[in-house]
Formats: sequence, C-alpha cells, structure tokens
Amino acid sequence: MARLLCLLAAVALALPAAAQTAPVLPDLDGDPVVLVVHGGAGTILRANMDADTDAAIRAALAQALRAGHAEVVAGRPALDAVSAALQILEDDPHFNAGRGGVFAADQTVRHDASVMDGATGLAGASSGTMHVRHPILLARRVMEASPHVLLSGEGAEEFALQQGLELVPNTFFHTPGRLRGLLSVQERERSATGLARPAPHPWQMHGTVGAVALSAGGSLAAGTSTGGMTNKRWGRVGDSPIIGAGTYADDATCGVSATGHGEYFIRLGIARDIAARMAYLDESVDQAASHVIGTTLAEAGGTGGVIALDAEGNVSMPFNTEGMYRGTITRSGRVTTMIYGDEE
Ligand code: ASP
Repeated sequence: MARLLCLLAAVALALPAAAQTAPVLPDLDGDPVVLVVHGGAGTILRANMDADTDAAIRAALAQALRAGHAEVVAGRPALDAVSAALQILEDDPHFNAGRGGVFAADQTVRHDASVMDGATGLAGASSGTMHVRHPILLARRVMEASPHVLLSGEGAEEFALQQGLELVPNTFFHTPGRLRGLLSVQERERSATGLARPAPHPWQMHGTVGAVALSAGGSLAAGTSTGGMTNKRWGRVGDSPIIGAGTYADDATCGVSATGHGEYFIRLGIARDIAARMAYLDESVDQAASHVIGTTLAEAGGTGGVIALDAEGNVSMPFNTEGMYRGTITRSGRVTTMIYGDEE
C-alpha cells in the first residue's frame, strides 16, 4: 500500500479512447430507452427532501444520462455509455459511490464495482479499493485486460496502477455528511443492548449507482459502483461487485443493476434471477424484474430495487423501498428522472 501511496503523485494516464464505429441504429419501433441509471434505493421521502437536494440529484442523473446517451448515438459500445454515465455519478458526493462513498468502520472509504457485457458475456469487478478514483473503470479494465472476473483490495489497486488508472488519496472520497452518518451508526450500535449488532438501517446502504445501456448496434451492458454499507468491517463485500447478484447483462434477456441490502441480493442471485425468468418462463423484463423485487426479495425480507433494460429498449425499475433515484433517456434524447415511489 505504501508503494501505491508513493505513486499517487504520478501522472494518471487516460484510458485510450474507444474505437470509433459508425452509428448503426437498431430497427426498433418508436423511441426506445437506450440508457437507464439509478442512484440508490432507500427511505427516500418527499417530507425529508429539500428542494435544492431534489434538484441537484435530478440534475446529476440527467447529466449522467446525457453523457451515456452521447456514447450511444456516436455508435460506441454499450459499455462506453455505462462507463460515461457512472463516472459522473461517482464524482458526485450525493451518491454512495466514488467521492460520496460511505465510511467503513475504520473511517476509510472502500469501493466495490462491476460491469458486464451482454454481447460477449464477459464481466469484470473490483472490491475493497481505497484509491481508485473511478472504480467503474477498474471493473472494466479487469474485464478487458485481465484473465479474471473479480480482483480485491491491494491486488486490485496494484492492477489499477499498472493499467494507468487515476489514483487518489482516500481522503479525496471523504465527505462531512458521510462521516456524520458513520458516527451516528456507531453511536446507535454502542447504545444497543445485548450482544447482537442491530440489523443495518436501510439508509446505511443507500446511494449506490448503476447503469444499463443499449448500444446503437443492439447490445446491452450493465454496471454498478458503490461505497457499500456504512460502518462495514471485516472486509465486507456487498452485491455490487458480484456478477449475477448486483450486476448482470445478456443480450438475449436483459441488463440489470441492483441497489439495496446486498446480503439479500447475493443470497437470492437477484440480477441473474431476473434474466433467468425471462429465459425460462418467457416473461417480459417488467414481469421478471417486478416479480423478483416485489415477491422474491420482499418475501425474503430484503429491501432495494433494480433497473433492468432489454435489447428492445423496454425498461423496468421496480423497488420495494419508499424511493429510488432513477432515470431514463430515449434514443431521441428524451430524459426522465424520478426519485419517489409515486412518480411514474
Ligand atoms: N447494495 C449495496 C451493498 O449492499 C448498497 C446499496 O445498494 O446502496 O453494498
């Protein structure tokens, strides 16, 4: 780790620009959704939201959608749209990812991220990184430049360094609001009676970001990035870097990015379950996603939501919490952002 810190001053190398390909718009009727993003699900109520925060979150979602849309209309791969959108949300401290990542118990911020390409079935992920500015880019590099799917901790950071990704001190990710969140969780746990730690509050896992894109060529990709759970310890890993739990993409069914109480999403294989229902039961993306969140997850006692998109641009965004930051952009560039449970 000391070696990594010494090298933080080194000039970060930009990723090579993605290959330019001619835009080939798929033969889809109407104005299909080509990109869907989320910024986390949880106890998100109008009553607790001030107008400035509401507007700032919608603006960030819209900016992310437009950045990804530019990649799609330029004819670049769906993974480029996912990366472009999620880098913007990782830089925005409103979300539990990148800069606004929640604190672990030791007052560090540790990120998890993953991507999957629906055309090839390839995937990449990273867990527990502390210095990679854009974990979503690292996940993509794991997929494209290593023979592995999931790298963790110091090894993942060493790989990021070798790949020329931008590294920053952990303090870059620290925000006063997240520190207050950590201290209040720790106070709550100290005052709990008995030996058991209280179950995490929904807001301890709130603000993860994710995206699913449909390229002009008709291929899907999905990605998810998070700081995980406030006050996490023992190297806790959530669902976000677990392919099939927090992220999944397959052109034949759908792309999925999840947010919520990760332990449930891992145990239930939520993202893959949605795709499997489409494949085995011939359900639509909305039937499959709504069943998995509304029935499978809810009956197990888990909370959260997903965004899901199929290769025809049909979108589903179910959640069983009060709200979920979410938004879509269509092929023609029509942006919709939503926060609360009563927004259609
Ligand atoms: N699913 C993430 C985790 O459990 C948290 C979240 O979605 O907000 O790490």
